[in-house]
Amino acid sequence: MSAQPSAATAGAYDVVVVGAGFAGMYMLHRLRGLGMTARVFEQGSGVGGTWYWNRYPGARCDVESMQYSYSFSDELQQEWDWSERYAPQPEILKYAKHVADRFNLRPDIQFDTRVERAEFDERSNIWSVTTSDGKAVTAKFVVLATGCLSNARMPDIKGLDRFKGKVYHTGHWPHEPVDFTGQRVALIGTGSSGIQSVPVIAGQARHLTVFQRTANFSIPARNAALTAEEREWFRKNYPEIRRFAREDARNGIYTDLPDRGALDEGDNERRTRYEARWQRGGLTFMSVYNNLLLDEPANDTAADFVRGKIAEIVKDPATATLLQPNSHPIGTKRICIDTDYFATFNRPNVELVDIKANPIEEITENAVRVAGRDYEADALVLATGFDAMTGSVAKIDIVGREGRTLNRKWAEGPRTYLGLMSAGFPNLFIVTGPGSPSVLSNMIVSIEQHVDWIADCLAHMRDNGLATMEAEKAAEDKWVDHVNEVAYTTLYPQANSWYMGANIPGKPRIFMPYIGGVGVYRQKCDEVAAKEYEGFAMVAAEHARRVAAS
Ligand SMILES: Cc1cc2nc3c(=O)[nH]c(=O)nc-3n(C[C@H](O)[C@H](O)[C@H](O)COP(=O)(O)OP(=O)(O)OC[C@H]3O[C@@H](n4cnc5c(N)ncnc54)[C@H](O)[C@@H]3O)c2cc1C
Repeated sequence: MSAQPSAATAGAYDVVVVGAGFAGMYMLHRLRGLGMTARVFEQGSGVGGTWYWNRYPGARCDVESMQYSYSFSDELQQEWDWSERYAPQPEILKYAKHVADRFNLRPDIQFDTRVERAEFDERSNIWSVTTSDGKAVTAKFVVLATGCLSNARMPDIKGLDRFKGKVYHTGHWPHEPVDFTGQRVALIGTGSSGIQSVPVIAGQARHLTVFQRTANFSIPARNAALTAEEREWFRKNYPEIRRFAREDARNGIYTDLPDRGALDEGDNERRTRYEARWQRGGLTFMSVYNNLLLDEPANDTAADFVRGKIAEIVKDPATATLLQPNSHPIGTKRICIDTDYFATFNRPNVELVDIKANPIEEITENAVRVAGRDYEADALVLATGFDAMTGSVAKIDIVGREGRTLNRKWAEGPRTYLGLMSAGFPNLFIVTGPGSPSVLSNMIVSIEQHVDWIADCLAHMRDNGLATMEAEKAAEDKWVDHVNEVAYTTLYPQANSWYMGANIPGKPRIFMPYIGGVGVYRQKCDEVAAKEYEGFAMVAAEHARRVAAS
């Protein structure tokens, strides 16, 4: 069990943490262990972040639960029983609540409270943090654990506010169960949330119309109950599984590493391998070969295989063609994992509407209008995703040195050193920020790595009498160049994806996550720390005091 809640008084803390998802919760736990005072602010009414907000039908993880879980406590990972290969949202939320209770985190978390502003005072080296309840606290450090996919994107469609029926966003789903039985439902968006929810909503609704702008690649989850033997196998092998995920895997997932490229094998062998992975299901489809995201002809072989599967599953040839993705190489947008998504379009109550060729004209009181036709609906489901990676950070008014705001600094795209800090904003850390592997990985692996690095860094500063730490501009510029360089050696930038900010009108197109892989990235972060935090400027507390007094 952890230490007792910290005993900060009068709103002055060592650290303010923003967000109580998996990142904020683990950050708090580590800070407690260091004996630091901390306050976590969370705008929701409970812990869990993603799993608190995304309660839509069919919501579940797409990294297997035995791996999409904390590794920092062996007792926790030995104790917790995941019921399915991919746990559904209610179970992941239950897990988050269990962690909060087990480590007694709640006393230091203030719920229903948004952080609205954080301003750095250069004389005292203290952050002042203003919250939605009109109060302000101070802290030496601020950690943004605000989440990469936590700022739900409302589409800008004419007439949306006129719709008389219920409107739901998958990322802001009501807490009480929603039952679509007997209703005509219109669903807009066919990314991961749309793909997960379509089969479940189709099973309830009288009629479901799915509006698709971009067809996406999706691989069957092959979800199933986990047997006691399977759980036991993971538990016994956790030391190696977790080590591999952190150090050897590019994406933080334990799997076999490919030893050859797609074109090194003949058609039959290749097809056999793809078929085996398709049958196995899950995200590891993309690691059949080592060059699928590097070489277009290699990528085409995997994309063709999946397009072929869609044609086999979907009976109506015109619908099958519409569902076959052709606008981007497979894997360059986050690949989706589904249960019966394509087969759902064989149901008589499900219809697919192409809104790429003919965008939605408007939403009326009772319909979605496309190409002059009204698709009537009693309820509207917006599966339109998130302003990813920077959206939640941008909603906070963050003011650093010389009164400069982070939003102004990032107007042309986010700039960080290692995804962890941004020059001009001392003592402000970001968990899984742009410039780190983040959304390209099993995010709990990346979260734990960042939180551990930040906690170790704070301990180093305390032990060495250091008052401030800040990314150096030269190191940041070099890192941003490196992140882009690596991205452009791959096929990723070919897709108009949310990795590039392409789903948000007006957002700068810059490749945000670091593609180098979690193992390489971790090594880099560790090296930087070992070299006395190379690329970060550290100022001694004594010096800072003299400057403040002068
Ligand atoms: C439907 C869905 C499925 C996913 N499945 C997977 C998966 O299988 N594997 C995987 O690796 N990743 C998955 N992800 C990504 C997921 O976001 C991460 O795995 C992880 O949960 C992120 O944790 P976090 O704590 O960093 O952020 P979040 O869980 O997003 O938590 C951030 C919290 O910060 C709060 N917050 C933000 N701004 C403020 C503010 N200004 N003031 C106060 N509070 C604030 C938010 O309310 C939120 O609760 C999925 C995402 C979604 C949306």
